[in-house]
Amino acid sequence: MSLLPLQPPIDPPPWSGGGFAGAWRFQSASGRLELDVDVAAALGLACLTRLDDFLSVLAPSDVAPVRSAIEAALEGGGRFNRRFKLLSGPAAGQWARLSASARGAELQGALTDLPGEGQRMEIWRDAEQRFQHAFDQTPSTAVQGYDRQRRVIYWNAASEELYGWRREEALGRCLEELIIPSAGRDEVIRMHTAWVDDDVPIPAGELELLRSDGSLVPVFSSHVMLRNGWGEPEMYCIDVDLRQQRKAMSEGRLREHQLRLVSQANHAGWWELDFAADRIRWSAELSPWFGGQGAAEASPLQFATHVPAETWAQLEPICQRLRLDGAALDAEISHVDQGRTFHFLLHAEERDRAAPERRVGTLLDITDSKEAASRIDRLVRFDPVTGLPNRLLMRERLDEAIARAPAKGSKVLVGCLGLDQFRLVNESFGTAVGDSLLNACALRLQSRLRGHDLVVRLSGDRFGVLLEGVQHAEEADAVAQKLLALFQQPFDEGPQEQYLAASLGLSIYPEDGDSAEVLLQQAETALHRAKEQGRGHHQFFRAEMNQRSVERVQVLNQLRRALPQGELTLHFQPQMRLDNGQVQGAEALLRWHSQQLGPVTPDRFIPLAEESGLIEPIGDWVLARCCETLRDWRSAGHLHLRLAANLSGRQFRTPDLAAKLARELERCGVPASALELEVTESVLLDRDGRTREQLFALKDLGISLAIDDFGTGYSSLSYLRRFPVDVLKIDRSFVSDLGLDADADALVQAIAGMARALKLTVVAEGVETAAQARFLTELGCEAAQGWHFGRPVPDAEFRVRFLS
Ligand code: C2E
Ligand code: CA
Ligand code: CA
Repeated sequence: MSLLPLQPPIDPPPWSGGGFAGAWRFQSASGRLELDVDVAAALGLACLTRLDDFLSVLAPSDVAPVRSAIEAALEGGGRFNRRFKLLSGPAAGQWARLSASARGAELQGALTDLPGEGQRMEIWRDAEQRFQHAFDQTPSTAVQGYDRQRRVIYWNAASEELYGWRREEALGRCLEELIIPSAGRDEVIRMHTAWVDDDVPIPAGELELLRSDGSLVPVFSSHVMLRNGWGEPEMYCIDVDLRQQRKAMSEGRLREHQLRLVSQANHAGWWELDFAADRIRWSAELSPWFGGQGAAEASPLQFATHVPAETWAQLEPICQRLRLDGAALDAEISHVDQGRTFHFLLHAEERDRAAPERRVGTLLDITDSKEAASRIDRLVRFDPVTGLPNRLLMRERLDEAIARAPAKGSKVLVGCLGLDQFRLVNESFGTAVGDSLLNACALRLQSRLRGHDLVVRLSGDRFGVLLEGVQHAEEADAVAQKLLALFQQPFDEGPQEQYLAASLGLSIYPEDGDSAEVLLQQAETALHRAKEQGRGHHQFFRAEMNQRSVERVQVLNQLRRALPQGELTLHFQPQMRLDNGQVQGAEALLRWHSQQLGPVTPDRFIPLAEESGLIEPIGDWVLARCCETLRDWRSAGHLHLRLAANLSGRQFRTPDLAAKLARELERCGVPASALELEVTESVLLDRDGRTREQLFALKDLGISLAIDDFGTGYSSLSYLRRFPVDVLKIDRSFVSDLGLDADADALVQAIAGMARALKLTVVAEGVETAAQARFLTELGCEAAQGWHFGRPVPDAEFRVRFLS
């Protein structure tokens, strides 16, 4: 999507809600920050502002990372992409993404909202905060986190102590310039790149790293690579300070007492291998693991019988190497004692020329830091609410499944299951009930899948499923139906029995993509389409869906501008009385001619306007124009004409719809009886009592009410009696089949008969031929609308053609 030019820095109008997207530009020399009017309105800032004002609306924990990403891009060029939460301003609570790239001393980019992202990010942030909290309180283990560019994103207190950089100083700076001695920088960058790009892990080991004062500090450093909430690799380094231990070593084995004290503090001990005497000796600290009490010694053979076979299997080759090779050596060893696995770092000093028959070294217990690493792993790969794995683990398992699939000759099925309107459950019954429902869903899903299938929680109301060994599409279809069938039974968690509907989007390897990320995305896209079809549906991904969602974003961005830029107009289509052929009124139909996209049909933009909430201001505009049009017609003497406007269900959320309309009618001096509002059957089925109230309030004003597209919806006739309906508009699909399909004839006849019984007027839509018009007259239909009588046209043309 190309960036739109920034608008002149005027002050934005109040934000109208919904999403936002627009350009963002920052000049470091002048400190000017320019925002598109949409973005400025959503953030509650002026279009021309300063960086600090922009940062002040972000959540506090996002400020430093965003600021350092901006500074790093200005300094070193390149792009960045940061997500953050808005703390204040009109869009407070929403998540947004800033992506920008540097051009000299200027940054340019786009700022967009991330609908639906909020809950996913909250969960991720929660997990992240918990593990960071754990490390903030670990005084002896220095933990640092680095992003893909190796910039510091996390720095605990022990790191401050170890490396001499305060957290604020370290955040945003590069690993290599901060703590890597210059000789090792290229190698560190190479290893990190190999890890990020090719998954080649960086081995744990002893290193000498740089402190802020330029001195070197010996550490034992291990690394874990994680993927954060949006899939970016992050490296966490867990460093144990070896200074005291080294110091003790160099001060000589003679000061054994001192060494022991230090060793105890560090869970470390020393050992000596004496090849001449065929002995192994070790200090008291190691005895708990290697038998006996106090310092002890044994022959290698005896030692081998003391320790578990698995431990000796690791130690024996080390002994061999130490005998043959004089170099220093570091190795990691695991050792099981009374059911618990301990991890050690074995360090051997270089061979001492004065005593070549002996080798000495230390053994450091690194169990805690190992366990910490696996704790992080758990926190990051599992969802705390349901205990299910999360998206990260799904992605890993999916990658593995993709790698295996060709050999097995089978497909991999990826499902994304979304609970419909789950937000309402949380809002109505609280998150505790919401959580227990999620748990119940998790159990049901797990109960239906085979042992090696995977269920994960992808985000707030979304679950992921992964099935291997699927042979053909029919099988996938059967699985999908089986999963959705799980939601036919009510859940009895919470204060009352509840039905939860779910929709399912599916993608298949190899047809829809060959990477985990792509397959997951396609399944989510398919879910989106499934949801559009109503509850309880499943959809397989199809390539045109992606095209569609890109197009939707573009159309939506333009639609936000349509009203302020005067791109909307109304066209009018005549409604005829069938008995005498006179014009009895018209339907107002919205037209949009976008500057960028050209004419866009209502079928493309009305659904987007409804989803985004833009239909509320647009609908208000339509109603105001309709009142003005009626005023003009009436002052030209056409007092009998009635004008019908389409009203979307979403407009009933405007609390004072009837009052607003009453004001418009009064402003234009038009009686309410001249206005008709068309709503679809689904609006009447809305269980929310407010819609019913609003309909009656409109009716009380004297406005008449038409049911649009009658026959295509739920066609439950009971609501016709419960609501103050005046007109039924028979959908054009029945009209087009008239005379061709006996069912359509019978249906139109039945509707006309029923309407007469209920004293409703019937208007047939989409009448294209004289034959259809004749047929409808015979069936007892009073009025009709369609191309046969006239297409929708602008007001001026309407008057010339139909009112003169
Ligand atoms: P609708 O309310 O069912 O409007 C009738 C649609 O049928 C219009 O399409 C009209 O141009 C078209 N039509 C009229 N006569 C014929 C005919 O003889 N043959 C055929 N094939 N079509 C005919 P349009 O204008 O594209 O509008 C599409 C839909 O967009 C409307 O369906 C309505 O649901 C929505 N819409 C249009 N204007 C508004 C509006 O102001 N507010 C809201 N909420 N929805 C609107
Ligand atoms: Ca209509
Ligand atoms: Ca219609």
